[in-house]
Amino acid sequence: MKKTFLVISVFLITVVTIAVYLFGFYHGRTGEGLVVIKEAVAAGKKSSVSPVKAQTERDVYYPGSEDIGPNEMRVVACGTGMPNARPKQAAACFLVELGNGDKFIFDIGSGSAERLSAMKIPYDYLDKVFIGHLHSDHFGALADLWIGGVIGNRIKPLRVWGPSGHKPEFGTAYALKHMEKVFTWDSGSRLGNVDIRGQVLEVTEFDYKGINQVIYQENGVTIRTIPAIHALDGPVSFILDWNGLKFAFSSDTFPNKWWLKYTKGVDIAIHEAFVSPRLLIEKQKWTPGAALNVGTQVHTSPAQFGKVMSIIKPRMAVAYHFFNDFDTLPEQLAQVRQTYDGPLSMATDYMVWNVTKDDIRVRMAVIDEDIWPQPAVGKKLEPDLSQRIGFSDFILKGREPFPKVVQKIYDDINAEYGTDYKVPTD
Ligand SMILES: [Zn+2]
Ligand SMILES: [Zn+2]
Repeated sequence: MKKTFLVISVFLITVVTIAVYLFGFYHGRTGEGLVVIKEAVAAGKKSSVSPVKAQTERDVYYPGSEDIGPNEMRVVACGTGMPNARPKQAAACFLVELGNGDKFIFDIGSGSAERLSAMKIPYDYLDKVFIGHLHSDHFGALADLWIGGVIGNRIKPLRVWGPSGHKPEFGTAYALKHMEKVFTWDSGSRLGNVDIRGQVLEVTEFDYKGINQVIYQENGVTIRTIPAIHALDGPVSFILDWNGLKFAFSSDTFPNKWWLKYTKGVDIAIHEAFVSPRLLIEKQKWTPGAALNVGTQVHTSPAQFGKVMSIIKPRMAVAYHFFNDFDTLPEQLAQVRQTYDGPLSMATDYMVWNVTKDDIRVRMAVIDEDIWPQPAVGKKLEPDLSQRIGFSDFILKGREPFPKVVQKIYDDINAEYGTDYKVPTD
């Protein structure tokens, strides 16, 4: 009797459990779906969220998809890492875009040219570069923008500003004159093959000792420099003023009196916060002596960065120049927070700041690796074939012209574009 009762009880409990589960499943899942659809329908035109319309406000930034407001400044981190390059972070580079249409590049460290390409800005608008000092992690990608810009259709010179040194050969003009020499073969190879008007470098070297000196003033934008203290005489930091907004960029510097005086209360202050000495020892196998020297004397450590920011009190403090990962960020951040409790961004590549008088919005850009660099809008000239340096007879005689194959390529292009180009016969 007891056994029968037990069997019946177990059977009933099982049936009830299954029924409750199925009821819950039906109402839970299907019911939820219905509620969402009903809410969407009820929201109608009142909401920017619609099943068929693009959202007007996004949590992330898609390059090339948002206008800049007339009073807005957009800053994009195109390099926030270290001299030893890695896929996640290029070396120092910050792009500043203004509501008046102007764009400025501050530092252009190794690997950053790819990040600039990802911003979908035509090359003829990426023609102004400001270099804080001549370490490779602050200007190593200059040749990529210079030469890549020629291929990308920039038809005007690339303008570059950089500091003098304690001797002429330590200055920007010397470095870039010799960079042009390094690329003698590259430049010569392009003569007569492409429009080379963008191959010209216009270099302005200014005194690294200038204090709050104006080095650029056009179209309502003023850029000033102050000396920075880093490794050798020569480095500088930049302060950009436009339309009541101020952007300050340290490049690399030890905490110094000029930065503390001239960047007080800026809207956005981007300053190095180097990899903490302990992380240099643990992750890079540095000796404690080297980590302390480079981490706190040549550079600014996160705790020193925090102290600097607690004095200048910017609307947004931005720390960069460290490898920003799940296992390093907590320690870097904890050190900054020992000395600073104000607004803070711990930068990584593709972080974006939209700065206005009323608001500073921080987001990440969404980058697809299939993005093509944006072609320039300037009208390109046909190459002047007579400018070619040409080949020696030795090399010319090694050519296999495949005339039928090449003729078909010319015929197809001429047919598609209504042109009449002839296959060269020499
Ligand atoms: Zn440096
Ligand atoms: Zn550096």
